[in-house]
Amino acid sequence: MTKVLVLSSSQEPLNICDWRRALSLITAGKATVLESYEAKAHGSDQRAAVIMLKRPHPLAGLYAGLDKRQPPRLAPSRRNILHRDGYACRYCKAHGPAVTLTLDHVTPRCQGGKNSWENLVTACSRCNNKKGGRNLEESGMSLTPVPHYPTNVAAFRASMFRKLGMSHPSWEKYLP
Ligand SMILES: [Zn+2]
Repeated sequence: MTKVLVLSSSQEPLNICDWRRALSLITAGKATVLESYEAKAHGSDQRAAVIMLKRPHPLAGLYAGLDKRQPPRLAPSRRNILHRDGYACRYCKAHGPAVTLTLDHVTPRCQGGKNSWENLVTACSRCNNKKGGRNLEESGMSLTPVPHYPTNVAAFRASMFRKLGMSHPSWEKYLP
């Protein structure tokens, strides 16, 4: 499935979509094509590689830090937390295909721990079982560095796009 980089009307990276979605945005007049993938030898269709939305997106300004009044935040989703933590256990640093990665609540939910960037970390299943329903103090486990929200959201997204193998040379000039 060909992936397409979606930019806001001010050319900030917003998301990645598949080419069908991109095509529907283009034919509906909601987006313009900035870059295309090279046409395949046997096909004449040039597929969009980078598109730009014509209207300001609700998330626009997030990356430039323009809307300080009510900045929309990246969700602490499993994908985002794993990426922040480098796809490695934050406790024992285990990583790789043989390691089962889970999300651990640093302060357990039963103790009032929230689903937040500061309270969710990547943990291998062994460490997660070892820690169980206890907090750091009770379990005697420690975290360095302390988990936090990405300091540079645009760079965070760009590195995630690259890591997930979804980036393309034609995208590079639009990614920080
Ligand atoms: Zn571990």
